[in-house]
Formats: sequence, C-alpha cells, structure tokens
Amino acid sequence: MVTIPPQPWPTGLAEAVEPLVLRVLAPNPSPYTFTGTQTYVVGVADGPDCAVIDPGPNEAEHIAAIIAAVAGRTITAIMCTHTHRDHSPAAAPLAEMTGAPIVGCAPLMLQVAGPRSDEAFDPTYSPDRVLADGEAMRGTGWTLTAVATPGHTSNHLCFALEQSGALFTGDHVMGWSTSVVIPPDGDMGDYMASLEKLMARDDVRYHSAHGAAIEKPKQLVRGMIGHRRQREAQILRLLGEAPRAIESLVDEMYKGLDPRLTGAAGMSVKAHLLDLLKRGRVATSDEEWSLR
Ligand SMILES: [Zn+2]
Repeated sequence: MVTIPPQPWPTGLAEAVEPLVLRVLAPNPSPYTFTGTQTYVVGVADGPDCAVIDPGPNEAEHIAAIIAAVAGRTITAIMCTHTHRDHSPAAAPLAEMTGAPIVGCAPLMLQVAGPRSDEAFDPTYSPDRVLADGEAMRGTGWTLTAVATPGHTSNHLCFALEQSGALFTGDHVMGWSTSVVIPPDGDMGDYMASLEKLMARDDVRYHSAHGAAIEKPKQLVRGMIGHRRQREAQILRLLGEAPRAIESLVDEMYKGLDPRLTGAAGMSVKAHLLDLLKRGRVATSDEEWSLR
C-alpha cells in the first residue's frame, strides 16, 4: 500500500531541488498522482531563459505558480514527457500567455474506433515541435536532451539535463509507485525495454513527475525490472495451475490492494498477458488465459 505523506504539501511554491532546477507542485493529489504533478523549471536562476517541464493540469492557480517560478525569464520551451491529463493540459494556456513554443513528446494519434483508454489522454495537446530520441533543446547554461522511453504511453520521453546529469523521468520511473501500463497504448514489452535503456545510462539522479527525487536511480530501476519479471513469473505459475480470467489473476496477485486501484491492476496484468501473447507464451479465448 502506498503511504501518502501528511498534508500540507508545498503546493504552488518554487522549491529549489538542484542549482538549475525549481519544482512546483500542482494541486491535484490522487491515488494516481500521489501528492500531485510536479512541474520543473530548468535554467540559471538569474539567467535570461528557462524551460518548463510537464506544466501539469490546466488550473489557473498552478499556472500562476509556474509563472512566478519563471520569474521574468523567457520560456524557451514548454516540454511535456507525455500527454496524460495530469501532465500536458497547462501547456496550451501557458504558451498562450507567454508566447513560448511547446516542444517535446508527440501528440497521441487516438484511434476513434478502438478502445484506447482515451479518457486519460489530453486531446488539446498540440506541439510546435516534436523531439526525436537524442534531440536537444538548449538555453543559457542548460541543455535538455530527449530520451525516448515508450511503455507507460507510446509517446513518453524523458529529458536529460546535461549540466548536472539529472534525468526528468515523467511517469516512466517514479519513487513512490511503479508506473501504470495500460494497453493498448501502454505496452509492457516497450516499457521493459525502456527500463533497460535507463540501465545502460549513467544518470546521477531522477526527478519524476510525482514524488521525491531519486538519488540511487540504477538501484531503483533494477528493482523495477525485477518486480515486473516477478509479476510475469507469478502469472505464468497461476496459469500453469489452471486457465484464468484477468479478475481471478488480480485477486491472487494483489491481495489487500486499495479497491480504487483494482482497475489499474487489471490493466497491468492485461499488459503482461498481451506481452506474453506476443512472445508466444500464453493463449486466450473467451476472456480466459492459459499457457501454451
Ligand atoms: Zn502518465
């Protein structure tokens, strides 16, 4: 079970988390967002320019707090890690108010016909420029390079701050919870590959969109890879006993889960099953899953 720290949280304040980085917490706590979405302002404190990462929900109070943290600097880029509704909806109004371009992840091509958990996505997101893996944005004393990390969503990017070795991980890796992978846009195979991609890097610290900074990033990522492999092994073991529906797997695998999170747990199990299906390890018919 997740323990949410006691209130009050420092909503609306610009907290310095390292010399080039301010963090502003949005007022949107929930079982999915922890204490809320954290927006980062990256740049030299008394410099001429900065970047804003994950502007968050479109709430006037939060946008005002971001503008206060920017403190008169020119916003070179409003950068979104992905387009879930707790991350990108403030991009358009912030761009409108400041004239800053929106640069970062791709918009999501939503398929009207297929189920795609659309309610979680921000349809207003419209970037001026999409960054490919390895492309960088530069300002005075800061460089942010995109690291493509699909899995949590297909369009997810992390951003690496060259000057300090920090990585802004969005929802790909968080300290307070594992990332939710919801098919069909979320993809467990991609997510695992994106975790392995971080293992091959030497980032010194992670700033995620929710929860405290992560000071031992590789240790955490290694644990997450192990956790997912364990879940996969558990699914294979349970299916080895008998074919099962997803609900029955969730009951066995997530004893004592917050009832508000059973839907997300079911999606995560489904993401594992789809990955196993792709790899030829399981089969499915009539809502039941079995070993092959
Ligand atoms: Zn997300």
